[in-house]
Amino acid sequence: MRRADFPLLARHPDLHYLDSAATAQKPAVVLDVERTFYETSYANPHRGAYDLSTRATECYQEARQVVGRFFGVDDPRRLIFTRGTTESLNLVAAAWGRSHVRAGDEIVVTRLEHHADFVPWQQLAIERRAAFRIAELTPAGELDLDHLRSLITPRTRVVAVAHVSNAIGTILPVAEVAALAHAVGAVVVVDGAQSAPHLAVDVDALGADFFAFSGHKMGGPMGIGGLIGRRALLEEMPPYQTGGDMIEVVGDDRTSWNVLPHKLEAGTPNVAGAVGLAAACTYLTQIGMSAVRAHERRLTTLASDRLAAIPGVRVYGPPAGGRSGVVSFTVAGLHAHDLATILDQRQVCIRAGHHCAQPLLRSMGVPATARASFFVYNDEGDVEALVAGVLAAQEIFGAPADDPPASAAGAAVEHG
Ligand code: PLP
Repeated sequence: MRRADFPLLARHPDLHYLDSAATAQKPAVVLDVERTFYETSYANPHRGAYDLSTRATECYQEARQVVGRFFGVDDPRRLIFTRGTTESLNLVAAAWGRSHVRAGDEIVVTRLEHHADFVPWQQLAIERRAAFRIAELTPAGELDLDHLRSLITPRTRVVAVAHVSNAIGTILPVAEVAALAHAVGAVVVVDGAQSAPHLAVDVDALGADFFAFSGHKMGGPMGIGGLIGRRALLEEMPPYQTGGDMIEVVGDDRTSWNVLPHKLEAGTPNVAGAVGLAAACTYLTQIGMSAVRAHERRLTTLASDRLAAIPGVRVYGPPAGGRSGVVSFTVAGLHAHDLATILDQRQVCIRAGHHCAQPLLRSMGVPATARASFFVYNDEGDVEALVAGVLAAQEIFGAPADDPPASAAGAAVEHG
């Protein structure tokens, strides 16, 4: 669709990059604006009274506007720049969580959370002596809404849920989850790491009280991401970190905090990263998120169907239509890491392992899966290279085709 826009891919025409769920390649526009920022407007923002510093400040502010609007948010004070999803979720769990969750309260997550949206809540529950509840999946790999409903009570303070699973691609019904959570006054935290690059996201329409995302998965730079929050929640939160820029007055005994968003952004910010992320948002907007989704859906369906038709291959997660651009699979008799090595020799880059989702893989009864994930630069040729590589690996390892193939619609998740 857009391969020529990506310098690394243009430089390596035979590379089949199928690991965008881990990180996405960067379009030239993102690299260009970062370089331009360093060459024309670089200084520490907010601190200097000189023109160059003002220019850096303006670049940062403009980036905040652009990125906020990408998620349907007009008030830039609602966007806190962070290093990425992990930091955003830790920020919420530490700053909001510690000040709102008490002994006997309940925290609800789902079985398919990435460790970044599982462990901070688990640890908060341990620290606050709160109950930690896990909503299970249906056999088809979708969120079991009835089970989730049964876990939500008047003691539920927070429901933390991925918008899209990085391990099996499931798209979760966040608006329905939010309605259930809000009915008992709970706060909804959405891990948007895998939806921000692939789906049109309107944070408020989703019902997310907090929404976390990573720039590097959207074609933006590494080391920048964000947390969008409801204004009232951000206002009442204590700071996450303390230091420069986030203070108003520092007395010998007491300190008062700066206004949003600065209160939650201690220290020198990653302005070049923010500028690059804004360029990535603009790039995706120009393609159109519905076009991005349609393209990835087509490739995901094709890859799922082609892989599932190979004897011994099992594809996990819901049917490709209910999945974002992720195809997670196993090959009977072949470890996912061995498969990834063979594919690498054929210049096909996939991920193998537990995908930082051990609670999910444990429930699926597999230690690891192979995962191919798609973005705007992939095409049918990448799918063909993947399928050819799997067939070649089966031949090399003499892998027995004794596992029944998954249905063309995508096999059910197996629970161990
Ligand atoms: N949540 C999900 C669903 C992810 O896929 C990832 C990264 O793979 C993360 C959180 C963590 O993102 P980051 O490493 O950019 O902080």
